[in-house]
Amino acid sequence: MPFKSRQNDIFLPRDITTYQWLFESPTYSPLHRLPRPEQLGGYHNAITKETLTYQQVKDDATALSTTLVRSYNLQPEDTVSLFSQNTIWYPVAMHATLRVGGKVSGASPAYNVEEMTYALQKADAKFLMTHPDSLEVAVEAAQKAGVKKENVFLLEGEKAGFKTVKQLIEEGKKLEEVPVWTIPKGKTNGDVCGFLSFSSGTTGLPKAVMISHQNVIAQCLQIQLITPADLTRILAVLPSFHITGLVHALHLPVLLNATVVMLPAFTMKGMLDTVVEYQLSELLLVPPILIRMVRDPIVDNYDLSFLRRFSSGAAPLSEEIINLLKKKFPQTGFKQGYGMTESCSCITAHPPSHYDYKYAHSVGTVVASTTVKIMKEDGTEGGVGEPGEIWAKGPQIVMGYLNNEAATRDTFDADGYLHTGDQGSIDADGVITILDRIKEMIKVKGISVAPAELEDLLLGHEKVEDVAVLGIQDEWAGEVPKAYVVPQAGQKGDQALGLELIKYVRAKKVRYKAVREVEFVEEIPKSASGQILRRVLRDQSRKGAMGV
Ligand code: AMP
Repeated sequence: MPFKSRQNDIFLPRDITTYQWLFESPTYSPLHRLPRPEQLGGYHNAITKETLTYQQVKDDATALSTTLVRSYNLQPEDTVSLFSQNTIWYPVAMHATLRVGGKVSGASPAYNVEEMTYALQKADAKFLMTHPDSLEVAVEAAQKAGVKKENVFLLEGEKAGFKTVKQLIEEGKKLEEVPVWTIPKGKTNGDVCGFLSFSSGTTGLPKAVMISHQNVIAQCLQIQLITPADLTRILAVLPSFHITGLVHALHLPVLLNATVVMLPAFTMKGMLDTVVEYQLSELLLVPPILIRMVRDPIVDNYDLSFLRRFSSGAAPLSEEIINLLKKKFPQTGFKQGYGMTESCSCITAHPPSHYDYKYAHSVGTVVASTTVKIMKEDGTEGGVGEPGEIWAKGPQIVMGYLNNEAATRDTFDADGYLHTGDQGSIDADGVITILDRIKEMIKVKGISVAPAELEDLLLGHEKVEDVAVLGIQDEWAGEVPKAYVVPQAGQKGDQALGLELIKYVRAKKVRYKAVREVEFVEEIPKSASGQILRRVLRDQSRKGAMGV
């Protein structure tokens, strides 16, 4: 029997884009709801103090989109890739793209040329907006992926030969304004993709997840229903390219008319200084940062007694850390959300009545207008208290994977349920607990790493005959990749080869994908169809691996 959310359903506008909804709708847009412009929130850079109110964001997005269409021929459905650390110009570029019917694709600013080329190709990007720190990689990747050099822009900063978003905005103000793109007749905002984010899903290489305008609107409304009124300033330290940042830092705050306090890069000191300076009531963090909140001595230099709650998501938080948080911050509430890129962020979240450490082991209740099934291994639906794979259906469940029908069919079934690859259970009060991850994905510091990507790379190494990569527990990062390697005939599986392989991955992949351990094995257990039997391997893995 499916478990339906016990909250009232959301009312979902189906005929408007996210841009119209946030900046033009008389019902939802703060620009229309609020009588005085000085009451408006906006995006604020905590370091440079640069601020854009939501009115300025609208004006700038209008001018920028006008230039992109009139001078660079951006067409509806074209993809603009955003490859940058957090900056207040990121949402301007995003809303500008959406205003004229384009799609936005976020990429980790830490990507190297190869990874960025893959991201541009998979998202079929026509434009690339980046940051001076990422420009070198961006230019090379753009060339390899066939993005024209004149379509590469800087979101902030300056560099000879590249237009900045600010310049494009100034140019746009002098041009005839391009009208707002609207949902075509006969379609709804659920049929129109506005965002392409990357996820490896339950198996294989990273794929471009098609997220509709409706998915984002629905998720914002679902979260708004359970958001307390004290949330007027929102910390944006999580990266904008991840679904959590995209929804909770770039869209939801506009609906709430909250100010987004953005940190371009994460340091513990920078974050804590900002939290105190802006007296932030809620901190949306990932488990690795929460671990540092209890273990890093720098935290003791700050009086955080004003803090009302921690909010955790993106990866599991251990009971040990929850207990340490409770001990160190007894007056602070706690909540968490659970979901994935394919569910446009949350499937479950704690409602305000559960902002307490006693519920912290769980991931809350099913968000509004959403139904969950717990599927047992025998293929039947589980009841209260029975463990099984979580399947979820609701307006936030995304459209599928771009240009990958097979993976779409495997992950999203004909009844509209997303198969999460996470194992959990639900109690009699509708509270869900995550028990295990049964899919391949590894979560390093809250960011997903696809084992298949590292396996593909290592298989290309001349001394590797076969390989499987699994996640192993790590005190600080949550999980880190470990490679199980069958050496080529004649090669010795020793410390020297282990180190060589670790260095090889480090040279080719972004840092968080680094393989931390190598264990040499005689064979990789596989099914008759050649799939790696990851569970068998994990069980077989001997304790005390070489850990080079
Ligand atoms: P991503 O698509 O990168 O957001 O990764 C989604 C995956 O992260 C989920 O399928 C879970 O395995 C894991 N995850 C997300 N939130 C939580 C949470 N609160 N507790 C445990 N695991 C989580």
